[in-house]
Amino acid sequence: MELIFEKSQPGRRAGRVPSYDLPVPEIPAELRRETPPRLPEVPENEIVRHFTELADRNFGIDTGFYPLGSCTMKYNPRVNERVVGLPGFRDLHPLQEDEGAQGALELMWELQEILAEVAGLPAVTLQPAAGSQGELTGLMLMRAAFADRGEHGRNVIITADTAHGTNPASVTMAGFELAKVATTDRGNLDLDDLRGKVDDRTAGLMLTNPSTLGLFDEGIEEVAEVFHSRGALLYYDGANLNAVVGRSRPGDMGFDIVHYNLHKTFSQPHGGGGPGGGPVAVRAELEPFLPAPVVVRDGDAFRLDHDRPRSIGRVRGFAGPFGVFVRSYAFMRAYGAALREMSDAAVLNANYLLARLKDVYDLPYDRLCMHEFVLSARSLKREHGVTALDVAKRLMDHGIHPPTIYFPLVVSEALMIEPTETETKERLDEFVDAMRSIAAEAATDPETLKGAPHTRPVRRLDEVKAAKEPVVRYAFEQPGAAATIESR
Ligand SMILES: *Cc1c(COP(=O)(O)O)cnc(C)c1O
Repeated sequence: MELIFEKSQPGRRAGRVPSYDLPVPEIPAELRRETPPRLPEVPENEIVRHFTELADRNFGIDTGFYPLGSCTMKYNPRVNERVVGLPGFRDLHPLQEDEGAQGALELMWELQEILAEVAGLPAVTLQPAAGSQGELTGLMLMRAAFADRGEHGRNVIITADTAHGTNPASVTMAGFELAKVATTDRGNLDLDDLRGKVDDRTAGLMLTNPSTLGLFDEGIEEVAEVFHSRGALLYYDGANLNAVVGRSRPGDMGFDIVHYNLHKTFSQPHGGGGPGGGPVAVRAELEPFLPAPVVVRDGDAFRLDHDRPRSIGRVRGFAGPFGVFVRSYAFMRAYGAALREMSDAAVLNANYLLARLKDVYDLPYDRLCMHEFVLSARSLKREHGVTALDVAKRLMDHGIHPPTIYFPLVVSEALMIEPTETETKERLDEFVDAMRSIAAEAATDPETLKGAPHTRPVRRLDEVKAAKEPVVRYAFEQPGAAATIESR
């Protein structure tokens, strides 16, 4: 497809307006540009067609099934958008004084209350803008708490070998050392390995539960005991909360700090890099260290409390990603007390897919899963040379977004599948049919899989080149001359 600049012809215009017949204020010479801006010159209908064609190529949850494991790509109800577009929310200024923003502050306060209930922990900050920023915030809170106790030697954070990449990254950014604990054949943390690793230098554990294998750790209470008995803290990566909301709470499992991914569990359009929300909840002892300001209630009034002398400081501008708060709040209030039906359906859907696919793909951990599960294409690879990547690319020909592949790292040829609660049985069956037909094709026609996708606007890419030499900027050679694409 041509770029809009390549469609440009001198003199073409999208619209015509009569020339201006009022006096034009004089713009000082030094502020005037010397050459006209290099804008594409394209008629209006061609502009509309150009961008409509691009939009049609886009794949999203509104166009099809999107079982991208660990990302919780659920359908986002339109009512969320209606609510966030209400003028009182939409037109609020970020620096509005508290008196003029009572409704917004009340919504934030209520969101904090609901999130506290979901986690089973009393105090919440809404500031972090993503799960990963929540992780960093949580680790800074740990550091502040240990410093407060005078325990400066606690420098090591332990993560699971199934951990999401942001966990080790956050540990490093927060200035801790990283240690890893192994996973057993059943997919639980290896308690013997763990007992040998936790000591007086241990600051804490960072864990996703259910893990990125989609498995609930059956030994979580013993794990918590191992850390707490040594004075260390437990951090819960809440990316998989969609499995447990209303059924079990991280605070009850023994976790001290939790982040939520509002954009995953509590419904936001995401996948293009934001906006997201990563609130953090903590036990009462850690509350004084939360980022300032926090939203507090005084009788019937709400305000931002900046007077927090032990706070780790601000982690996000203004009051945080407010539009995200409104959407998640609308989403939760639409469920009301029935919020657990969300998780129940997510877990049921995942187990349905697992049961219908485990005879054609390898299932490394064969037990009931939570809201997602991990298959492996290793037999297809051994027998027919077909990889998880080939399966993923071929799914695109069926109009389905590929699952997450090659993660978690403990499973070779991993296919990590998360259907979410928002899909109908018919959609799930379509996915099963596609996955089964791909497995059959691997035996009869592996070359078709290796060349997939065959029906998409973009075919198989040179992924190494795309990463190492990305073309991200359009460059003109000189004004008026034919343009070239510059590689940066
Ligand atoms: C998505 C995810 C994260 C990071 O969250 P972001 O909101 O994308 O920063 C961390 N851990 C797990 C397990 C995740 O799936």
